[in-house]
Amino acid sequence: MGAVACPPDGRFAPSPSGPLHLGNLRTALLAWLFARRARARFLVRIEDLDPGRSRRAHEAGQLADLRRLGLDWDGDVVRQSERRERHRAALEQLRASGRVYPCWCSRAEIREAASAAHGPLADGAYPGTCRRLGAAARAEREASGRPAALRLDAGGERIGFVDRLHGPVEAVVDDLVLWRNDGTPAYNLAVVVDDADQRIGEVVRGDDLLETTPRQLLVGRLLGVPAPRYAHVPLVLGADRQRLAKRHGAVTLDDLAAARGPRAASDALAWIAHSLGLASAREAVTPALLLARFDPAALPREPALFDAAAVLSV
Ligand code: GLU
Repeated sequence: MGAVACPPDGRFAPSPSGPLHLGNLRTALLAWLFARRARARFLVRIEDLDPGRSRRAHEAGQLADLRRLGLDWDGDVVRQSERRERHRAALEQLRASGRVYPCWCSRAEIREAASAAHGPLADGAYPGTCRRLGAAARAEREASGRPAALRLDAGGERIGFVDRLHGPVEAVVDDLVLWRNDGTPAYNLAVVVDDADQRIGEVVRGDDLLETTPRQLLVGRLLGVPAPRYAHVPLVLGADRQRLAKRHGAVTLDDLAAARGPRAASDALAWIAHSLGLASAREAVTPALLLARFDPAALPREPALFDAAAVLSV
């Protein structure tokens, strides 16, 4: 008798470093649509690893905005900062395989070394400087007291996967950071551990993260966890084709509420739905209606351009 496959659970995993803007909300809606269409669970995880940038007030505001949009989720919201022991255990597992080394390079040193390096690695990738340190150079750095990050020796592996929207993607993985020199787990480690522990079957997120995926697949493989499927969705850009930001005008629900009052959330949802080809301009919609119309194969593949005036002009 064959096993019955579980539907691929999904998630939205914002970093609480500021309010969500329409681009983030559009990604959240898409992650919800993918999961709910598969009749799967949809989870929310707060990626608050960076103590300098994460704020509880932003977390509360982000969750409130998801609710205002009409998105629901299953179970309790998980905070990445409360999962340190799991991240530490994964680090130790990788360390035991002999593939972890300390790295003392500053950002400027990495930039310089990366621009001088030639080979199969992508631009800006870490060329492995500290992996090749001689005994004396290593001892000198150890003695300097400068805190080290911990990197994975990726062994120059080429990792490929098939993204639901982008098709086949392949890259040579560089020696990524597993643990930062401020003592916190790195995103590329934590995200793999957390997605695996939460049994996420399909990761739906912005396509600015497409290039991180081969790294995460390698980490997952070395940890022996199942690989999720991926759908990297197009971002929302400002009229200048730069990533959406405050300067582009009314980009958050609070900005819209200041101009539109209680209609802010429905206006935002209408704009998002239209940008996804799921509704006509300014049509009043609900997440349930969008779910009935949603067809992943028909999703636009191009970034959406945000025009504040169009949202505010109704
Ligand atoms: N926390 C990340 C962000 O807000 C998203 C990570 C992910 O979806 O894998 O950009």
